[in-house]
Amino acid sequence: VDVLIIGAGPAGYMAATWLARTGVNARIIDKRSSRVFAGQADGLQCRTLEVMQSFGFCDRALKEGNHMLEICFWEPDAKGNIYRTESIPDTIPGISRFQQIVVHQGRIEQWFSDAIKKWSHGKMEVDRPVLPLALELDESVKSDDFDAHPVQVTVRHMADEAAMAEQYGSKVANGLFRAFEGDSNKDKFEGDEGKEIIHAKYVIGCDGAHSWTRRQIGIEMEGESTDYIWGVLDAVPITDFPDIRNRCAIHSANNGSVMIIPREQGLVRLYIQMKEAPREAGSARVDRAKITPDLILDSARKIFHPYKLDMVDMKWYTAYQIGQRVAGKFQKNERVFIAGDACHTHSPKAGQGMNTSLMDTYNLCWKIAHVCKGLAKASILSTYESERTKVAKDLIAFDYKLSRLFCGKPGKPGDKDGVSLEEFHRYFEKGNEFASGTTVDYQRSLLQARPSLDFKDGDEPPCYYAKVAKNVAIGRRFDSARVINQADARSWYINDRMLSDGRWRVLYFAGDVKANTALYDFMKKFGEYLASNDTFVKRYTPATAQIDSVLQLYLIHASARRSLEWDEFPEAFRHRDHVGRMDYWSIYADDMSYHEGHGRAYEKYGVDPNVGALIVVRPDNYVSMVTELSGDGIEDVTNFFNGLMAPQKESWTSNGGFKDVAKREEDTYGKHDFGNPVLAV
Ligand SMILES: Cc1cc2nc3c(=O)[nH]c(=O)nc-3n(C[C@H](O)[C@H](O)[C@H](O)COP(=O)(O)OP(=O)(O)OC[C@H]3O[C@@H](n4cnc5c(N)ncnc54)[C@H](O)[C@@H]3O)c2cc1C
Repeated sequence: VDVLIIGAGPAGYMAATWLARTGVNARIIDKRSSRVFAGQADGLQCRTLEVMQSFGFCDRALKEGNHMLEICFWEPDAKGNIYRTESIPDTIPGISRFQQIVVHQGRIEQWFSDAIKKWSHGKMEVDRPVLPLALELDESVKSDDFDAHPVQVTVRHMADEAAMAEQYGSKVANGLFRAFEGDSNKDKFEGDEGKEIIHAKYVIGCDGAHSWTRRQIGIEMEGESTDYIWGVLDAVPITDFPDIRNRCAIHSANNGSVMIIPREQGLVRLYIQMKEAPREAGSARVDRAKITPDLILDSARKIFHPYKLDMVDMKWYTAYQIGQRVAGKFQKNERVFIAGDACHTHSPKAGQGMNTSLMDTYNLCWKIAHVCKGLAKASILSTYESERTKVAKDLIAFDYKLSRLFCGKPGKPGDKDGVSLEEFHRYFEKGNEFASGTTVDYQRSLLQARPSLDFKDGDEPPCYYAKVAKNVAIGRRFDSARVINQADARSWYINDRMLSDGRWRVLYFAGDVKANTALYDFMKKFGEYLASNDTFVKRYTPATAQIDSVLQLYLIHASARRSLEWDEFPEAFRHRDHVGRMDYWSIYADDMSYHEGHGRAYEKYGVDPNVGALIVVRPDNYVSMVTELSGDGIEDVTNFFNGLMAPQKESWTSNGGFKDVAKREEDTYGKHDFGNPVLAV
């Protein structure tokens, strides 16, 4: 295979989705016989929802999940009774078109599973239970040897019964005992029965906090564990507590804290600090055998005082003791990568585990797809570690502080041992921006054309904005604004035209071309350039692929839509394919729509309609470059792509145009097999 994914949790499913979407020959294995059906992670942050939208299944989250809109803070009064001190929006208004949603991990994995089936035309599905036994990496193979398969993984196919997790007599599903004999990764079976050797160009270890892959490549986790023990209950509450359908952070005077997460189908998840949890003899470790739902509920009741609390329809429970740890490295030789919990573990209260894990492989796998398809240089793979290590470290620092503020006993002013609840509220509020996932800011690299800015040690590096698009930070995700399709007047979020299909986007903000003749002339000249033989689009597009398969162009102008005629726009933005079908979906106006108001895209992005801008957006929707409308600007874009894309042996440039019509017909009509050189079909 080109890519072997080990582990089918959120990180593995996202990896498989990207690789299925881009037609890469990939395989995904998991040692368990079945998916997660209850419990574990449940919160979907704004950025994750945006990504789901770009894969076409966010609607399922919107329909099935609980929309969590408000956070309430509760704390003890002088008598030790809890009372509400504040309520604030759960998602910062305006940060994204989506707000946080809660639904259990099993459903989320199902949506990914369906997407994988769809994009791979039924060819890829999780192979389980399959236990990896040995991994060998041939370190002599060069990173730009695209044909080599330097990783060899020996696996054993097991019988389903051999890979079932024990629940130890509990009637309620729980996360306490997930162990089965295979968990230790020791191969207890003799001989070659069920054994297979998989040769891969790349391996991605998405195998969770106790990652086997991580151990095979000798990467250590760095960080510390805490002494705090938390219980988790998923059930329907019977209570007189008035904010039970809101997210709440409750601090009690002496009995610890509770986080309430209102869930789908009337369920509520409680994260409960257990002050009196049973420990293993002579150790600080929680004694899992003695944890019961009743014990967890008793701890919760003390914190809820004076409100009453009972729980029915118990679906899942667990208890955990977790520290903040991050892997020292995220890859070996840029051939074996690790992602998700294999790289970072922390407390679940900020709802980051699944979201960050999904985003790790969302960052990695379009890059692997580009390299496997021979479209980009292997050097782009180095950006995975640099980009995601920073995110993981920021997450660990955030979680470290949040956990301690949340677990600490409320203190009076001047009290050294207690925590300031005012500080907790403000930190939580500020952390919400970080937790939304929308502020991830990738630094200068071959994928981000931005200067390195000075900043003080310990401070966050500042965002970088180019003058021509004052509100578009290079390195952050490209936020969506509404624009109107020139051809048919439909109003679109522009990101709904920029789906996760492996393509780069170059957005040409043409400005008010009707009123400004200089901009009109530039549009004509840009059109002539794009029609010429050697352009940044043609150089990197294989001659067997449609012209917009690798780099897709959009024109967004700021004139009244009806003031311009269709054939005034350059043909590069309304090209015809080999049988004459025209592209009607690449030209937009920032104008009033008939039914959905004015999107004010130029204002949102900070682009002056009398100046315009060129914006390059990565396949995962992060902004790579913002530059001016000029010959120099076009050269900037050309140089940018020259730095990372692999020149095609037979490109549109060398070949003079789309040649292999028969092959294209196959691709277009879905008969293509893996190995198709086109990323987007
Ligand atoms: C018991 C439990 C409870 C949790 N509770 C919460 C919670 O309450 N709230 C919250 O936000 N987050 C919670 N999490 C964390 C959240 O589920 C993770 O952050 C998230 O799932 C990480 O995704 P991942 O894909 O990196 O790893 P995982 O979801 O752990 O997936 C790893 C996958 O790899 C498989 N695997 C492991 N080892 C191997 C191997 N050697 N070979 C093949 N396959 C392997 C596993 O079977 C699993 O399917 C919980 C996690 C666990 C395990």
